[in-house]
Amino acid sequence: SVSVALFTSDLRVHDQPVLRAALDGAERVVPLFVLDDAVLAADFTAPNRAAFLADCLADLDASLRARGGRLVVRRGDPARVAALLAEQTGAAAVHLAAGVSGYAQRREDRLREALGDRLRVHDAVVTVVAPGSVVPAGRDHFAVFTPYLRRWEQAARRQPAAPPRRVSVPAEVRGETPAQVRAALAAAGAGEPSPALPRGGETEGRRRWHAWQAAQLTGYQDHHDDLAGDATSRLSPYLHFGCLSATELVGAAESVRAAGAAPGPGAEAFVRQLAWRDFHHQVLAARPDAAHDDYRPHGDRWEADAQEVAAWREGRTGYPIVDAGMRQLAHEGWMHNRARLLTASFLAKTLYADWRVGAAHFLRLLVDGDLANNQLNWQWVAGTGTDTRPNRVLNPLTQARRFDPQGAYVRRWIPELAGVEGAAVHQPWRLPAERRAALDYPQPIVDLSAAAQRFRHGRGLY
Ligand code: FAD
Repeated sequence: SVSVALFTSDLRVHDQPVLRAALDGAERVVPLFVLDDAVLAADFTAPNRAAFLADCLADLDASLRARGGRLVVRRGDPARVAALLAEQTGAAAVHLAAGVSGYAQRREDRLREALGDRLRVHDAVVTVVAPGSVVPAGRDHFAVFTPYLRRWEQAARRQPAAPPRRVSVPAEVRGETPAQVRAALAAAGAGEPSPALPRGGETEGRRRWHAWQAAQLTGYQDHHDDLAGDATSRLSPYLHFGCLSATELVGAAESVRAAGAAPGPGAEAFVRQLAWRDFHHQVLAARPDAAHDDYRPHGDRWEADAQEVAAWREGRTGYPIVDAGMRQLAHEGWMHNRARLLTASFLAKTLYADWRVGAAHFLRLLVDGDLANNQLNWQWVAGTGTDTRPNRVLNPLTQARRFDPQGAYVRRWIPELAGVEGAAVHQPWRLPAERRAALDYPQPIVDLSAAAQRFRHGRGLY
């Protein structure tokens, strides 16, 4: 007998319940990935993620080949491709991980229409806890993180599944060649990828996880906000594409125990970040419209100046800490979380631009760009989302002093300021006039206190 394992955001062989279930029920399996025409045509497929995805698919193919199988990649509409393949191979079942976005939910509906009860959907593959499985009384999702976290910590968890030893694929099933896959992705993500993009794939993700866990996990709680220290895991793109299983990471982190007792504070803080990931996924699953509409309607009061927004995008606002973050994003397709918070706050609350404008720019560049995490973090920062203090405004100078006290992050990303010592780099306008004039760096484009006033006045308090 044959079954199909349809891969989506779960491009791995370790802890892969979809592949596991397909193998359990059949002698031969078709590990299938569909280059979905609708996704390839959408703005969402940007060069950085297309390049990373090509690496992920090549790596998954190699892992399956090492087990006697291979990855079958086809192009088209996933429902049609899967139905045709099921017919050709006589497959009794098509296994799939439950998705979260509106698009993933519609894809699942179309697959069910095409396949009927041959479709088997598996929960808690993308997240640790399945969206909708922990809910407050009388509601379909949690809107506040802390009570969610308490329930999340107590929720039953899947045991990570062992990787398969052997995968046997029907010989007659053909797909695109690796060169065709790379070419299709390069064409879809029209444009050049960022110069310092990480390599994609499960093998690289596991290597990074093991190295980071050994060196940095136990100190994570003290260093995760240190911009120059760059001490976070940088695993987000691997989690986005499912090269790593969040369930496996949580289990491994929790097993790092201090003196045989509870997991240390580093592991606890890291696990809490993965709970944030689940939190945003359960919000989006219940409210797919939150990818584009305000989660909390607040009226349309944004009033951006197009030139100011362009300066923000290009990293020349005249606020070095903001510009450093935006330049890191362009160069690496990734930005430190603290920099995401302060650059997003600057756009939404200081420049008073619609969060969607900023979220779209991030999605064009982030290699971890993810509808749930990006849109809902943006809404959180803009005050239209789940922040219980929606009117807080992050002052970039205060942020700079706290999280880049020596100015090293700014000097790394803004070569024009590389010669300015210490924390003085955060306020180039305060340098002696002659020194200031010699720097090829812009004056601040807005006055911070006037901007904060405009925000508070403009949108009013909840
Ligand atoms: P670590 O600090 O090592 O954390 C481990 C993992 O926890 C991350 O890889 C990520 O999967 C998860 N995580 C950490 N913080 C958050 C968070 N606030 N929300 C949800 N999950 C989190 N993350 C994305 O994965 N994709 C996005 O598109 C994205 N857009 C963002 C936009 C804005 C405006 C903000 C403020 C945050 C955004 N984040 C996004 C969340 C966070 O900034 C990144 O997950 C994190 O910086 C990735 O780096 P890391 O892997 O080193 O994180």
